[in-house]
Amino acid sequence: MEIRDKDSYGIARVLIEQSDSNYNYILWCTDTRECAVIDPCDARTILEIVQRLGLRVKYIINTHTHPDHIEGNDAILKVSLQSFDSSSAAKILVHPSRKQHVAPRNEPIDEGDVVEVGALNIRVIHTPGHCPEHISLILDDCIFVGDTIFSAGCGNVRFRGDVDALYDTFANRLTPLPDNLIIHYGHEYTEKNLRFALDIEPLNEAAASKLVVVRAALSKGEYVPLPTLGEEKTYNPFLRVEVPEVIETVKQKVPEAGHGPRNVFKALRGLRDEWV
Ligand SMILES: [Zn+2]
Repeated sequence: MEIRDKDSYGIARVLIEQSDSNYNYILWCTDTRECAVIDPCDARTILEIVQRLGLRVKYIINTHTHPDHIEGNDAILKVSLQSFDSSSAAKILVHPSRKQHVAPRNEPIDEGDVVEVGALNIRVIHTPGHCPEHISLILDDCIFVGDTIFSAGCGNVRFRGDVDALYDTFANRLTPLPDNLIIHYGHEYTEKNLRFALDIEPLNEAAASKLVVVRAALSKGEYVPLPTLGEEKTYNPFLRVEVPEVIETVKQKVPEAGHGPRNVFKALRGLRDEWV
């Protein structure tokens, strides 16, 4: 676990063992000790940490409803309902289109909503593409993106996904956000993503030096440092669809891809799907 300690809030990043390198996040108000759990896949691990830190779960927030992002919902709800009356026990927050796919104890959240956890105000933005209901959350200089963007990569579109919607999210929702936002992503795929990025841009020095940092962290069993959006723009091919070297590689590898950033993005997603 890695903890970010600020005056008014804390964030725990938890890499879940025996998962698809899932990160679960716990976000709390230091004043009230209320917390939100984001995308719990291992309830037991999360509940242990919640107890150890003296927190009370107000919300379970699902960025989307793929099984590994909601798996821990019910057990966390159950424990909360054993400890608190129904009005103050935890609730699930999820996009309205997927209300039926989580426990009935849920409330809808969508673009423009603000989630209150103690004194914290967490902003919700809709970031579809990996799947239609996908939302991301912004608090201070942190964004929680689920499976929309990964370090040096992006979410796949295999399970209810839409690559055009994902491109629109990258171009119109993520790219304009402040470069200092720290990206809290949902899976640790960075090493493989960077090898793919270097396959697309062999001379990209930012990708090469990030790979050194990532491998060093992994070899010591440490957490890979989270990137800012500005850093991602220097090596993440999905944020570099207008860079000449990326366009050139796509042209060579996918001659039929067509012109323009959308087509480059779609071709990159296809190449990444095949890439081992
Ligand atoms: Zn997913």
